[in-house]
Amino acid sequence: VVRAKGLSKAFGTGPHRVQAVTDVDFELAPGRTLGIVGESGSGKSTTARILLGLETYDQGELEVFGKPLGHNRRQGRELATRARFVHQDPTGSLDPKYTVAASIGEPLRGFRIGTRAERAERVNELLDLVALPRDLAGRRPAELSGGQRQRVSIARALAVDPELIVLDEPVSALDVSVQAQILDLLADLQERLGLSYVFISHDLAVIRQISDDVLVMAEGRVIESGPAGEVFDTPRERLTRTLIEAVP
Ligand code: ATP
Ligand code: MG
Repeated sequence: VVRAKGLSKAFGTGPHRVQAVTDVDFELAPGRTLGIVGESGSGKSTTARILLGLETYDQGELEVFGKPLGHNRRQGRELATRARFVHQDPTGSLDPKYTVAASIGEPLRGFRIGTRAERAERVNELLDLVALPRDLAGRRPAELSGGQRQRVSIARALAVDPELIVLDEPVSALDVSVQAQILDLLADLQERLGLSYVFISHDLAVIRQISDDVLVMAEGRVIESGPAGEVFDTPRERLTRTLIEAVP
């Protein structure tokens, strides 16, 4: 689904230059989850934004859905529908004025997919898919729990039937028990829909639970990578061990 080699990206110039990502390699196979873990500022979100075509890059090669994504290419319609983004804080990405149904249906309207009636039917299907009662359709984000809001964000991401979802700290703002419910939902959706995930978190317990493969990032570089079991059971790098020991 995604193949990246030697990705590098700096922001700003001169004394304000920040090297956000340096020489990052990874591959994501269909139906799999790549976990990206690392401390704040380690380049996780920048890596994610690059592979979605939301950020340019300076060096390296990137192939998404079997096609090269040039370093200056921006996300077009095809990439915007085949790969979707889910953010940490659904209050920040859901419009407070929109009802649940309007938020979930917005990508369908934006991409002019289906008739009005077809879109309404699709919104109902999506509510079922993420296990939200249909009678929540008329509520606004402020009238939902954090877990319900994240289900709305996931339904919205699924609306255009993507193959890849990039989840940037999707459960970090939630209580542990609600986190577990959302992780179960994501695993279930992956199995039913054959989705591929890039799952970003600074929480190793969460990454361990959901990932097939893991990238450990520090200061913009991948310091360790491999199958989740190997990275967690036999970490090679001191920082990885430190991160693992920090998990209660
Ligand atoms: P967090 O866990 O806090 O979300 P992160 O691992 O996602 O961190 P990034 O957001 O990728 O880290 O940031 C990597 C580095 O790039 C940081 O030093 C950050 O300040 C810098 N950076 C990110 N976006 C920009 C930008 N648009 N302009 C300038 N610098 C940026
Ligand atoms: Mg981030």
